[in-house]
Amino acid sequence: MKQSILNPNNLQTFAKEHKLQPFRVKQIIQEIYDNQNIRFEDMTTLSKDLRQQLDENFEILSIIPETILESEDNIKIWFKTHDNFTIEAVILFHRSKHEKESIKSKVHKVESQNKWPDDLTTLWPDRPLNRITLCVSSQIGCPVNCVFCVTGKLGIKRDLTRNEIISQLLFANNFIKTKFGKKDDQTLRAVRNVVFMGMGEPLINYQNVKKSIEIMIAQAGGFSLGKRHITISTAGIIPGIEQLIKDDIPVKLAISLHAPNQKLREELMPIAKVYTLDKLMKTIDDYVKVSDNRIFYEYIMIKNKTDKPELATQLADLLHGRLAHVNLIPYNMNPAIKLEESDERTIRAFKDILEKKGITVTIRDSLGRDLKSACGQLWYEKIANRHCEE
Ligand code: SAH
Ligand code: SF4
Repeated sequence: MKQSILNPNNLQTFAKEHKLQPFRVKQIIQEIYDNQNIRFEDMTTLSKDLRQQLDENFEILSIIPETILESEDNIKIWFKTHDNFTIEAVILFHRSKHEKESIKSKVHKVESQNKWPDDLTTLWPDRPLNRITLCVSSQIGCPVNCVFCVTGKLGIKRDLTRNEIISQLLFANNFIKTKFGKKDDQTLRAVRNVVFMGMGEPLINYQNVKKSIEIMIAQAGGFSLGKRHITISTAGIIPGIEQLIKDDIPVKLAISLHAPNQKLREELMPIAKVYTLDKLMKTIDDYVKVSDNRIFYEYIMIKNKTDKPELATQLADLLHGRLAHVNLIPYNMNPAIKLEESDERTIRAFKDILEKKGITVTIRDSLGRDLKSACGQLWYEKIANRHCEE
C-alpha cells in the first residue's frame, strides 16, 4: 500500500530523498488543502515529473469513495476503508425557502418532460451555494448502543484514524469544486462547517478527532475553518467533554439528550447509567463557562416514548437558565428497530410547550432528512439493499 501524504513526516522524508526545496513541499500541501485536489495529475503548479513521482509514492485519500447519492439538499458519499468497511459522509446545503422552491419547480419541470437528467447536478440552480456543511463519521460503527440508532446496532468495528476523518473533508471539497466551480469572487467553494454526526461517538475516539480538528482549523496545511464552525455531537461522554475543556478546544457542542430525566434516558441510552444526567449537566455547565458557547440539545421524537407533554415541561425545567438550543429530531424509522416517529402535530405541540417556557427550539427537517435519512443512518439502507441484491 502507498504511504499517506497527509502525514507530514512521509512528505518530509520524500522531500529529503528527492532534494525538494521547502517551497515545493509547501506547494504540494497547498495543492491538497487550498486548491482542493485529490489527484496528483490535477496539481498543475507542479512539474509533470514531480506529479508522477508523488503518484508512485503516495496516496492522498485514506479511504476510497464508492457511491455518491445526490438529492436537493444533500449529497451522501459512501467510502470504503482499506480494511473493507463502509463509512459515510453527507454534504448538506443550507438554502433559503425561496431557493428551495425554485429548485422544486425545476425538478417538477424535468419530471413533466418525463426524462431525468443523467447528471443530477442540473437540479442545482446557478446561484451561490453558501454555508456548506459536512457531516463526518468518526468511528466504524459505535459502541454506545442507543436503542433507537442503527449505527449502534453495528457494534464497534474500530476508530477512524485522523487521516480517514480528514479524507472525508478532502473528498467533499474536491467534489464541490468539480461540480459547482468558483464563486463570483473567483474563490473556490468549500465546506464551511463540519459536524461530527455521522457514524460513531466522536468523544470515544477523542485523540483522532482532536487531531483532525487541528487540521480543520489550521491556516497553512489545513482547512482554515473557524472553531465555531465545527460541532461535536456526543451521547454525553463526560470524560471527553472534560478533556475538551482541558485541551481548550472550544468547538460547538451538541448533546444528544433525548430524554429529560434519568429513568427514560437510561432506557434509551444505556451509557446514561455510567454518565448520569446530573453529572452530565454539571459538566456541560463547566464547558459553557469556558467556551461561552450555546449548547445544542438534540432531542429525538419517538411516538409515545419521548413526545409526551409532561416531558416537554421537564425538558424546559432542566434547561431553564442554561444557554441552550433544542433541536427536535423526528425519529427516523428503519426496519431493524421497532419504534415509531411522532406525528407532526405532537411535535408541534411539544415545541410550543418549550417555546412558551422561553426555550429556543427548532425542528429538524430539511437538513439531511430528505432522503429519509439523517446522517449516520443511511448505511443501513445501503446494507439492506445489498442484501436484497444478493
Ligand atoms: N454519536 C454521536 C453522533 C452521531 S449520531 C451522538 O449520538 O450524538 C447523530 C445524531 O443522530 C444523534 O443525535 C443521534 O442521537 C441521532 N440519531 C441516531 N439514530 C437516530 C434515528 N433513528 N432517528 C433520528 N435521529 C437519530
Ligand atoms: Fe452511537 Fe450516537 Fe448512535 Fe448512540 S446515537 S449508538 S452514540 S452513533
